[in-house]
Amino acid sequence: MGIAILEGVEKRYGEVMAMNGIDLDVPEGSIYGLIGPNGAGKTTSMLVISSLLARDAGKVEVAGKDPQVEPRAVRKVLGYMPDVFGFYENLTTTEYLDFFAAATKVPAAKRPALIADLLGLVDLEGKADADVNTLSRGMKQRLSLARALIHDPQLLVLDEPASGLDPRARVHLRELIAELSRMGKTVIISSHILSELEGICSHLAVIDEGKVKASGDLNEIRRTLTANRRITLRTPDEEVDEVATILSGQPEVSEVDVERGRLRFVLTGEDEDSARILALVIGSGRRIYDWRLEVAGLEELFLSITGSESNDS
Ligand code: ATP
Repeated sequence: MGIAILEGVEKRYGEVMAMNGIDLDVPEGSIYGLIGPNGAGKTTSMLVISSLLARDAGKVEVAGKDPQVEPRAVRKVLGYMPDVFGFYENLTTTEYLDFFAAATKVPAAKRPALIADLLGLVDLEGKADADVNTLSRGMKQRLSLARALIHDPQLLVLDEPASGLDPRARVHLRELIAELSRMGKTVIISSHILSELEGICSHLAVIDEGKVKASGDLNEIRRTLTANRRITLRTPDEEVDEVATILSGQPEVSEVDVERGRLRFVLTGEDEDSARILALVIGSGRRIYDWRLEVAGLEELFLSITGSESNDS
């Protein structure tokens, strides 16, 4: 059973179906990425999971509790980090965290040690007395993460934490998330940029127009992708037609094509199928100079699903 489970969840804003039947199963201990273009419904899904927004239909369970029925119980196990950091007048980093520690009823005597620990964890110990408004965007994001961690939640929900960060701050944030994962926390993290999530997530859900278009274990998604490979091969010019005929006769082969002296085709199958077909061609007396497998990447999958560019825009 996952730590967060959504089944057929719907949320409408007027005419817009921000969530149009979302299913998610977030395994405990995973780093679960929600990827999708702007307006896909990621923020809405995160707010619903975090008990901050009521859904119109469907089922949600976080650590076995319905956030709409038992919001307090859910907030106890969950830390939410919004995608915007507000403006706080004349508040130091320590005062900021102290305010939220008090709000979550951490006893006053325990707060200084807790705050020191959290600032250490997010690498802001040198900024304990700095005005929060003077922090860089990366530092604000890390402070916001420290705030989400105040009550030591099992599950962290991070809305676009890397957006607007420079490459170094992104690496820093990524290391921090990996550290939280090693500490045993489950992390749900959103982005509209695949490369931000690819290196860190164990699971991924592609969300578009309020729907989950693909989801699951990242390695499994990759395996599914490798089920469709493009093979390019080189053979002497006078043998191209015969090789093409042999290939076309194989049920796993489609889209046989000749391009600049090379034969290309799509293979639906495993390494063994590629090896068997290669052996068959060679066994028929044809000469193969080169046999190359290309595997479609996640980026292509993402683009084919959402039909949009996953860039910084
Ligand atoms: P982004 O990365 O741009 O925040 P997102 O995937 O998080 O995108 P949501 O913020 O969940 O997407 O928005 C989903 C849809 O719901 C969008 O069409 C958005 O315009 C709409 N929407 C979100 N919040 C509201 C609101 N409070 N009132 C009206 N429409 C809203």
